[in-house]
Amino acid sequence: MIKKLPETLDGSVLFNVPLPADLAGLNELAPIIIKQHYAVDYLHTFGQDSPFFAGLANGKLLGTECPQCGYRYGTPKGHCTQCGARTRWFELPQEGQVHTFTVCYFGSEEFLPDCPFVLALIEWEGVNTLFLTRLLGVDPQAPSLDWVGMPVRARFRRNSKFKPTDVYFVPR
Ligand SMILES: [Zn+2]
Repeated sequence: MIKKLPETLDGSVLFNVPLPADLAGLNELAPIIIKQHYAVDYLHTFGQDSPFFAGLANGKLLGTECPQCGYRYGTPKGHCTQCGARTRWFELPQEGQVHTFTVCYFGSEEFLPDCPFVLALIEWEGVNTLFLTRLLGVDPQAPSLDWVGMPVRARFRRNSKFKPTDVYFVPR
């Protein structure tokens, strides 16, 4: 049974805006809100993060590790934050567990249609830092502390968009 109609950003087109002859009340005019298409093509580089995205495009999750002090990054760093040495790449296990999570009821424009959704920090045995990702396959309307520590598995978009959202996690 439908209890609520979906909200959309569509509406009537306004061709005429009323303006009172007496301008004294205009400070109280409600703000005008318009919808306007806006598009920009960005040309940018992933720089030293490029291998991470090459990994995603091939269904692999890559982290980095420090050859000097052994610190291991679940979210890759080009250089070690502990000792400054240049790191090297390694393949992270595709199975990890939820360290913590949050339910998002608001997000940037791209994610608004998905609200509410779950963001989780993933942890791995022997890896020193966490990985922030979407957690699917759980009900954001019924979050549970039981999700903390839950074993999860990585999934990848079949057609890579070369975005961090090419990977997400689901319960094992
Ligand atoms: Zn180091």
